[in-house]
Amino acid sequence: MELALGVVLDASADAARTTELARQADAGGLDLVVLRGGPDTGLDPWTAAVWVAGVTDRIAIGTTGFGPPPEHEMPYPSVVEKARESAALLTGRRLVDGEPWATAPAGADRAALEALAADGRTVVVPVTDAEDVARLVALVGPVAGRRRTAAARALRRAGIDYDGVPASLAATAVEPGDPEYLAVSSTYLRGGAPGLVLRPETPEQVADALAFARAHTHVPLGVRSGGHGVSGRSTNDGGVVIDVGRMNRIEVLDASRRLVRIGPGATWKQVAAALDPYGWALGSGDYGGVGVGGLATAGGIGLLGRAHGLTIDRLRAVELVLADGTPVRATADEHPDLFWAVRGAGANFGVATAFEVEAYDVGEVGWAKLGLVSTDLEKSLLRFGEVATAAPRDTTVFLVTGRPQRGQSMIQLYAIVDSPDPQVVVERLQPFLDLGVLVQQEAFMARYKDIMGQAPDVGPEGHHGQGEPVSRSAFLPGITPQAAHDTAELLRSGRVFFFQLRTMGGAIADVPADETAFAHRTPAFQATAMGVDQADLDARWDRLAEHFDGLYLSFDTDLRPERLHDAFPPEVLARLRELKRRYDPDALFRDNFPIDPRTTT
Ligand SMILES: Cc1cc2nc3c(=O)[nH]c(=O)nc-3n(C[C@H](O)[C@H](O)[C@H](O)COP(=O)(O)OP(=O)(O)OC[C@H]3O[C@@H](n4cnc5c(N)ncnc54)[C@H](O)[C@@H]3O)c2cc1C
Repeated sequence: MELALGVVLDASADAARTTELARQADAGGLDLVVLRGGPDTGLDPWTAAVWVAGVTDRIAIGTTGFGPPPEHEMPYPSVVEKARESAALLTGRRLVDGEPWATAPAGADRAALEALAADGRTVVVPVTDAEDVARLVALVGPVAGRRRTAAARALRRAGIDYDGVPASLAATAVEPGDPEYLAVSSTYLRGGAPGLVLRPETPEQVADALAFARAHTHVPLGVRSGGHGVSGRSTNDGGVVIDVGRMNRIEVLDASRRLVRIGPGATWKQVAAALDPYGWALGSGDYGGVGVGGLATAGGIGLLGRAHGLTIDRLRAVELVLADGTPVRATADEHPDLFWAVRGAGANFGVATAFEVEAYDVGEVGWAKLGLVSTDLEKSLLRFGEVATAAPRDTTVFLVTGRPQRGQSMIQLYAIVDSPDPQVVVERLQPFLDLGVLVQQEAFMARYKDIMGQAPDVGPEGHHGQGEPVSRSAFLPGITPQAAHDTAELLRSGRVFFFQLRTMGGAIADVPADETAFAHRTPAFQATAMGVDQADLDARWDRLAEHFDGLYLSFDTDLRPERLHDAFPPEVLARLRELKRRYDPDALFRDNFPIDPRTTT
């Protein structure tokens, strides 16, 4: 019989010893530490609970034995309630409500403990020293993975074989009842409640995770690297998530070729910081917090794009684990078909476990954030279209705006000029000042790592996304007067709170369309619109379709099947489908613009 045991500690005893015994119980795999109030000296149980939470990782914490205080010391009930809430907050989800345990006498033997545990409760035993705790730890014995309390197991989701979690992943897997669950359940933009998060750290463990996923095709599967997916559903409700965030090593392989190997779990901010000491950079997107895995399998339209191309254009090899668990290395010579597919449609073909990239020399660049107020949005958009495309390729500028207010639009420009000469930077930015009245400006010479470094780090508490992002995307060959007019109308509707134009062209367009599955090489802009209601945004965005030539899948949350045809031109989609049949015939990978291998349309 598997015993769930805990300890009872005297909260009022020596605080250092109490916390040390709690730490020992936690490390030894016990389920619960109960802090019992004692004589009116030392810590009260709630304070002791917070102390114990601070030194332990997983063990549940209960409190007991508050004797009623003398009448004149009786606190207001609201004060007691606030104190209880504070303690609950400070201990995370580990504070146990009520007293759902059975208490055994100190020194009780295994038979006595088993008898008390027969009704499924955790049995707690008063302890006073390390020897007592060690005895209980020995009684529960080692377990594969972590031991979970009955309360934690009650939060498990239907349809998931929790006992079947591969041994290699059991210790790091996270379930709904685990203390770190909140930190891994949501992503940057999306709220989620997955049934199980598997956190492999090696390709072999990814293969184990995929074996588990193959046995769970009846629940959703999400693949996560940096958790900044918009189209990619890297969290879900009640499904499995394979989170490779811990595979985040960045390693220079060959300095003479600027060849670098990057794990999918690294962020672009970390990549930029690692390359900077060599005087190198690798363009990514406009936000350093984004993960490598999702972006480097989709495209990477960034602020060095016109100067150096898409992120995927610098990939020299991708290592991935296929749906059947086979590890493959795809390069121009090995599995070239897969290498083509992964650069634009990677989420359909495997879990990428490493990318080899060729970085480039980048010194100081001009970096600018400009805020302009426009009273004629149409004209400003049109002008942006002209100057952004006429700029030399060392200049990449992104435009962001939202709902106009009282006839005025706030236009934010984010620009990198890849030149170490401040004079050139000023010259390049000058034409953009025509877009409106300049009300904010921040422009200086910077290292790429400092620009990417502006994104805050995600702490141990993880992402806090809520709800579902609602976003549409399109490529625009250019900004015609009609396109500017229709876009301004859309923004004036007030239904789009975020609109962005990413300028393309330059080196992005140098690459032949058939070189990568990202085939939209010639558009001048990539546009993104975010709203709050998918159906409403779809209806409004669809009305602009005449101005579009395909879409960048990373920013589109519309699930209608025709979006796949916008993401991939017919011959590209046909080739991808053929490869999907070969590499993922059962459509295991389905969280991000899934290609159905069974259909031909
Ligand atoms: C604030 C913000 C700014 C952005 N700016 C830009 C930009 O300037 N340019 C640009 O091109 N994009 C940009 N993006 C889009 C971004 O590139 C994508 O959302 C990308 O998928 C995020 O990658 P991730 O690893 O952080 O996301 P995750 O949420 O971890 O993954 C998203 C999806 O990618 C796939 N995926 C993740 N990891 C792997 C893997 N290891 N192997 C295979 N597939 C995987 C899965 O389908 C997953 O659902 C931005 C997104 C945000 C939120």
